Amino acid sequence: MGALAQRALHACAELARLTETPGEITRTFLCPPSREVTAYLSAWAHDLGLSVRVDAAGNLRARREGPAPDSPTLYLGSHVDTVPNAGAYDGVLGVTLAYAVAGALRRTPLPFALELLAFSEEEGVRYGVPFIGSRALVGTLDEVLGRQDAQGVSVRAALEAYGLNPAELPAAEVRGPALGFVELHIEQGPVLQAAGAPLGVVTAIAGQHRLRLDFAGQAAHAGTTPMAHRRDALAAAARFVVAAEDLARATPGLVATVGVLNASPGAINVIPGAAHATLDLRHEVDAVREAALKTLLAQAHALATERGVTLTVTETMTQPAVPLDPGLRAALHRAAAAEGVVAPDLPSGAGHDAMVLAARMPAAMLFLRSPNALSHHPDETVEPGDVETALRVAVRTVLALAQEHGAQEHGAREHGA
Ligand SMILES: [Zn+2]
Repeated sequence: MGALAQRALHACAELARLTETPGEITRTFLCPPSREVTAYLSAWAHDLGLSVRVDAAGNLRARREGPAPDSPTLYLGSHVDTVPNAGAYDGVLGVTLAYAVAGALRRTPLPFALELLAFSEEEGVRYGVPFIGSRALVGTLDEVLGRQDAQGVSVRAALEAYGLNPAELPAAEVRGPALGFVELHIEQGPVLQAAGAPLGVVTAIAGQHRLRLDFAGQAAHAGTTPMAHRRDALAAAARFVVAAEDLARATPGLVATVGVLNASPGAINVIPGAAHATLDLRHEVDAVREAALKTLLAQAHALATERGVTLTVTETMTQPAVPLDPGLRAALHRAAAAEGVVAPDLPSGAGHDAMVLAARMPAAMLFLRSPNALSHHPDETVEPGDVETALRVAVRTVLALAQEHGAQEHGAREHGA
């Protein structure tokens, strides 16, 4: 394996030692070990001749300026926070690979600036709201500054306690011309491994519906109430679970999950009078997801009515799909093909920082295969060969963008623009 890919992997191992819970990898937003992560990456950035700053959201930003003050910027990176008891690669590998890309291109002139992003927060663990880091770059962090963690500490107070100044958040926003954001990330699912592909190009971040369904029937004696006289809330909810699974299995790309199902009163000899279920529904095409939701809700109401059960549906979250940039996706495909690598298209069922930055600039993601689909788990891993391949594809992509951009600049000059 090449020295730079090795360095990226070694850095993942080193950063895995920086944890707030001994014996596991846990780094939530602004925890004390975050400072050590910043120190480690800053030292690496200095070795690469990059300038470094920590913005008001705690994001570490290492930068190589472009040839002119108005040169656009190409952004590379991912997040450095983790879920509790995490693996070593989710987010972190995308950051260390970005540094490896900058290392590979250290002596190569580029017609744009390069900025490496290590987002302070993506997982949503401490505040129940994700993407705190990347929100700062698109100017939407203000919306969550008042949110409190389990100890009653607001985001604003946490930033101040860490030594950051929320009044400086506007300076964290991307204001100049942005060429785009490319995020490398482990897939965290089984698709690439099943396809025998080391890498994949993400088409879109799936849109999402989250709902709560409250079925209300009548609790009654399990022995004395004949079947025809029952209003069994759990029986209606159970049929709904099956309906959701059936529809998702029959609809390509649709995923539907009932993650919570509670019945009350919850006794062996009492017919359930109430049942509460949740539904998480995702697809990369909004129209498909919306049609599926309509079908499922009609089914849920019919299943309830058949049993004399009433149904109340509460939407808790709706998030539209975010298609990633066709130009950057094509560039990743061309680079993969030039490296002789199979890199199929696939949607991302999970949210990522690229989804947030897509509001401000062209964004794309390259997934690395996740062995055994293990993620958000200490056994999360990657194939070293895949890391090497991802690095080659990323470097080639940046070079192709440089060529494209250089040609455009040249064309603009020729035409006196
Ligand atoms: Zn991640």
